[in-house]
This record gives sequence, structure tokens and C-alpha cells, in this order.
Amino acid sequence: MFASLAGRVVVVTGASKGIGRGIAKRFGAAGCRVVVVARDGHAAKLVAEDIDVMGGRAIALSADIATEAGAHAIAAAAQDHFGGIDILCANAGVFPSAKIGDMTAEDFDAVMGINLRGTFLSVKACLPALAKTGRGRIVVTSSITGPITGFPGWSHYGASKAGQLGFVRTAAIELAAKGITINAVLPGNIATEGLIAMGEDYMASMASSVPLKRLGSVEDIANAALFFATEEAGYITGQSLVIDGGQVLPESLAALE
Ligand code: NAP
Repeated sequence: MFASLAGRVVVVTGASKGIGRGIAKRFGAAGCRVVVVARDGHAAKLVAEDIDVMGGRAIALSADIATEAGAHAIAAAAQDHFGGIDILCANAGVFPSAKIGDMTAEDFDAVMGINLRGTFLSVKACLPALAKTGRGRIVVTSSITGPITGFPGWSHYGASKAGQLGFVRTAAIELAAKGITINAVLPGNIATEGLIAMGEDYMASMASSVPLKRLGSVEDIANAALFFATEEAGYITGQSLVIDGGQVLPESLAALE
């Protein structure tokens, strides 16, 4: 049995849909007070309302985490509404596809700007509040794509996701002195709206490449993020946890037969 996280203040970036929404609702269900962040403030508000209906407490904030102003707005909103920050889930990310020959420098910078620079800016902005608790927690959403696997069209995305892990390892050492842990979740193929929109055939073919024979759910990722935020996970820092149903394990197609 894990100690309750009720009352803790959690900031979740990219929480208007997909994995971030799952994380925000999971922490809301655990009794946390949640700051739901996305550029689309209306979509973020709907998630905050869902959490309120579930009996939790949440506010929505429209902010672009790729900018210093946006990152500071997140920390300020958490401070103003809830008096501080206990947990940051740096989850916001984008994954446009472009092969290297067609990719522009602007395409590359845009993905790096949100996924990697945005992670840094979110952590930096929330750092003073996290340090005040003496037991702050940061959970970064990386991916299997980049750190472990590759996929044509996602070289910039993979580089940003691998870069997040490099950031996490040094941040873990720097932040340890403030009692803050930082870890990463590495989702495999998760059944978010974007994947579902690609159709049943696509989903079935992706699921068949997973040893557990199903796509992941947003709850699978949210549960891992929640674990990293617990008191009991307080001695774990600088680590990454793959949540992919075993997808990265088979050496060849024959291994799946
Ligand atoms: P998604 O459904 O497209 O949601 C992305 C979220 O990030 C949205 O709430 C979006 O809202 C927000 N966002 C994007 N850019 C932002 C910015 N500059 N500032 C603030 N918020 C921003 O994506 P997802 O599939 O849930 O992915 C979430 C995270 O999981 C990403 O980091 C992704 O790399 C990672 N991941 C996903 C999968 C998967 O299978 N889905 C697998 C591995 C890793 P706005 O557009 O309104 O800002």
C-alpha cells in the first residue's frame, strides 16, 4: 500500500488530451490538485472540469511551454491557485513526421523547441516551488522512439526524446541536493486519439508487434507516472521506465511467433 498523495499539487503539461489527460485524471483521482496545461485553453478546461466532476480539484491554463513566458505562467498559476508545486509531469510533446531529406531546419527546431527545450523550461520554471517542498517530483514523458528504437520520419522526434533522457540524468544529480527526484516514462504505442484515428487495421498491425498483443492505454502510462511521484519511489532518480508491453524486446519477427 502506497502513502496517499491527496492534496499534492501536480502540474501536467500537455494535459488536454492523450497521455497527459490520462496522467492528469489519474492524479486527480488520487486526490491531487491538478494544473492542466495546454496551448488550447478550452480543451484544457474540459479536462479540468472532468477532474472536478470526479471529485478532484483542477484548474486549466493556456500556455506554450516552448516559451519562457509560458513556462513561468505555469509556475505562477500553480503558486497563485494552490500555493506551490509538489509534482511536475513534463509531458507536452509533438510528433510531426518528415524524412530527413524533406525536413527543414525550422521543422527540426520546432520539434526540439517543444519536446526538449520545453522540458528544460518547464523544469526550470517549477524548480523553486518544487525545492520548497523538500521532496519534489518530476516525471518526464519521453518515448521508446529515439532512446531505444527508430521510425522513418521521426529522426527529429527521436533525437528530442533521447535528449530528454540526457537532460534527466544530469538534472537528477543537480536536483538531488534539493530533495527532488526526476525520472522518465518511455511509452510504446499508446491508444490515443491520434493512433485511433489511423484506423483499426493500423492499430491491429501495431498491436501484433507487441508481445502482450495490445496497444498501451493512457492509464498504463499514468500509473507509472503516479508511482514515480509516490513517497515510496523517493530513492529512485535519473531512471527511465519502458512501458510498452514488451514491444522493444523481440530480436526478429520469428521471436513473436
Ligand atoms: P497528443 O494527444 O497529441 O497530446 C499532446 C499534448 O501536448 C496536448 O495536450 C497538446 O495540447 C500539448 N502540447 C503540444 N505542444 C505544446 C506546447 N508547446 N505547450 C503546451 N502544450 C503543448 O500526444 P500524446 O500522444 O498524448 O503524447 C504525449 C507525450 O507522450 C508526448 O511527449 C509524446 O512524445 C509522448 N509519447 C506518446 C506516445 C503515443 O503512443 N501516443 C508514445 C511515446 C511517447 P495543445 O496542442 O493544445 O498545446
